[in-house]
Amino acid sequence: MTIRFDGRVAVVTGGGNGLGRDYCLKLAERGARVVVNDLGGSGSGQGASRATADAVVEAIRTAGGQAVASHDSVATREGGTAIVGTAMKAFGRIDIVVNNAGFLRNDRFEDLTDQQIDAVLGVHLKGAFHVTQPAYRVMKDQGYGRILFTASASGLYGHPWQANYAAAKAGLVGLMNVVALEGERHGILANALLPTATTRLAAEVPQGWMEVTNVSGLLERIDFAAVADGMGVEHNTPLVLYLLSEQCRSTQGCYSALAGRYAQVFIASAQGWSNGLRSLASPEDVATHWEEITDLRRHHRPRSVYEEFLPAIERIKAAKAATK
Ligand code: NAD
Repeated sequence: MTIRFDGRVAVVTGGGNGLGRDYCLKLAERGARVVVNDLGGSGSGQGASRATADAVVEAIRTAGGQAVASHDSVATREGGTAIVGTAMKAFGRIDIVVNNAGFLRNDRFEDLTDQQIDAVLGVHLKGAFHVTQPAYRVMKDQGYGRILFTASASGLYGHPWQANYAAAKAGLVGLMNVVALEGERHGILANALLPTATTRLAAEVPQGWMEVTNVSGLLERIDFAAVADGMGVEHNTPLVLYLLSEQCRSTQGCYSALAGRYAQVFIASAQGWSNGLRSLASPEDVATHWEEITDLRRHHRPRSVYEEFLPAIERIKAAKAATK
C-alpha cells in the first residue's frame, strides 16, 4: 500500500513551524495541494509575521509541490472563514483539515488570568470550531473528508500549570467525538492526535510546575536519553499522514505519537456495580462497592451517550436477576 494525496487539498493550521510544518511538507511530497496557514506569532501567541507561512510554501514549491499561504488567525470566526476561503479560491475543494495551530500561556491554576484562559481556549478550542465548521460544510457537499484535531497528553492525562491548555485540549476530544458521529454518514472521518516533540513550545513551559512533586518526582524514573532520537517532529507525521489518508478507516479515535511509538488512547467505562434497582443506592453502598465501580478489568468503550446504556442495562438486569 502506498499512501498518496494526489487530487486532495489539505489545510494545516499552524503549518509554519514545528509539527504543522512537517505535516505540510510531507503532505505536499505525497501529492496534496496544501494551504499553509500560520499567523506567525511567538510561542506564547504574541505578534504576527507573514514570513512564517510563506517560508513553508516556498519550500514546498521549490521541491515541486503545490501550496498557498494563509496568514489569518484561527482564533476568530472571520479568520477561520478566510482560511477555508483561501483553500476554495486556490484549489476549489477541501479534503483534509489539520487543526494544529496554538500556543501556551502556562501558570499555576489559581493564578491564571482571564486573558490567559481566553487566549488559550480561543486559539486551540474555538479555533478548531472556526476552521472546521466551514470546511466541514464543503466536505459534506463533497461526501469526503478527513479531520484531525490536535489534542494533547496534557489534556487527557494532565500536566501541572496547564489548566487552560489542558481544558482546551480535552475539549477538542469532545468536539472530535461529535464531528466523527455526525460526519461518518457523509464520508467525513475525524480523529484526535496526542503528539510529542521538542519544539519551540518547550521554551513556554516555566519550570515552576516542578513544585508539583507527585508529577515532577516521576522525571528521574524516565530514561529520556533512550528516546532522545525520537523527539523530532517527524516522528509524529507517519501517524498523522495515515489518519489523513483514504486508507484510514478509523474515526472517533484518539492516537498518541510518542517518540516513534504509536498507540490508541481511549476512554472507557467499567462494568460497574448496581443493586439491580431494588432500592435507591446510598452513598454508603457506593463506598462499599467502590472496588467493583472502579474495576476496569471488564470495561466498555461507548462511542456515544447511548452506547453506555447497553452495558449499563445489562449490568442492572444481571444484578436484578442475582437478587431474586
Ligand atoms: P509551534 O509553536 O512550533 O507551532 C504552532 C504554530 O501555530 C506556530 O507556527 C504558530 O505561529 C501557529 N499559531 C499560533 N496561533 C495561531 C493562530 N491564532 N492562527 C494561526 N496560527 C497560529 O508548536 P508545536 O509544538 O508544533 O505545536 C503544534 C500543535 O501541537 C499545538 O496545537 C500544540 O499545542 C500541540 N501539541 C504539541 C506537543 C509537543 O510536544 N510539541 C504536544 C502536545 C500537543
